Amino acid sequence: VRNHKGEIFWYVANFTKIDKEIAQSPQIDRIMEGIANGEFLLHYQPQVDISRGMVIGMEALIRWQHPEEGLLFPGSFMPLVENSDLATPVGKFVMHSALVQARLWRSQGLDFRVGINISPRHLENGHFIEDLIACLQHFPEVPPDMIDLEIVESAALENLDKVVPVMEEALRLGIRFTLDDFGTGHSSLTYLQKLPAKTIKIDQSFVRNIHENINDLALVEAITSLSNTFQREVTAEGVESLQTGTILAQIGCHQMQGYAISRPMPADKVASWVRGWSPDPLWQKATRTIWT
Ligand code: C2E
Ligand code: MG
Ligand code: MG
Ligand code: MG
Repeated sequence: VRNHKGEIFWYVANFTKIDKEIAQSPQIDRIMEGIANGEFLLHYQPQVDISRGMVIGMEALIRWQHPEEGLLFPGSFMPLVENSDLATPVGKFVMHSALVQARLWRSQGLDFRVGINISPRHLENGHFIEDLIACLQHFPEVPPDMIDLEIVESAALENLDKVVPVMEEALRLGIRFTLDDFGTGHSSLTYLQKLPAKTIKIDQSFVRNIHENINDLALVEAITSLSNTFQREVTAEGVESLQTGTILAQIGCHQMQGYAISRPMPADKVASWVRGWSPDPLWQKATRTIWT
């Protein structure tokens, strides 16, 4: 919705706060328009725990069903979003949509977590907690510990003095955090030490080649054991083959996400996918070798 000055107002139904975001470029303008027109949607990718043989979560991944250009992936528009005033309104749209979905899944007896990617700008906007509380009140059916906020270690997250208190307040509300793309930032170990994230997600660039690259394997093993030392759970992303899954199970990394399990899928495909999923027998065998 626009006001008389041509500024765009963004409003998420039933949120207590109304955000005003001023358009700064035609592209930003178009993204706001797309959100208002319902062109943005979320796909979901399963996260599984193979030692328990369970689907533990679904990560929400934003897509833009562009009327002319077709289905666009976040790589083509999220950099602009994350570096502009769109970070908050788009973040609120994602949060709201993911919680609508989580509420629906829970009503169907599906009780996995929902993973939501959060931009640093959104986290640091000064009213993140206020909005989060409003959100939790709006979705009382979704327990806060079913909400897993994924934050990427990046230069944008440099201001730890600002970020850590926000995270700690969210933790008090029962929210979980995952440190996404772990290992790609310039100060990973500082983040590991200072950010209260329950889960470390090893970046896919380290995971992809562990079946043929001994250095990558050593890195993934080291991050897994480091995470254990810090009492964090560890997830490997970018698991593209069954063989990679088996190796991960052997080295004690039991949470996985990747094309070998499933590509991201539309929300309405998730329930039947979950019903049909079972872990690869080799993975479970590899797990048992280590743990029993
Ligand atoms: P991410 O959070 O690290 O998500 C993982 C990305 O890797 C996703 O790409 C996913 O589709 C892809 N992927 C998953 N498994 C595999 C695999 O086995 N092999 C390969 N090659 N790729 C795999 P996608 O959906 O294009 O998203 C890219 C990035 O965009 C995300 O990285 C995240 O940083 C950002 N993003 C996505 N949705 C949102 C959102 O709603 N909000 C924010 N702030 N960022 C988002
Ligand atoms: Mg993520
Ligand atoms: Mg990632
Ligand atoms: Mg990423």
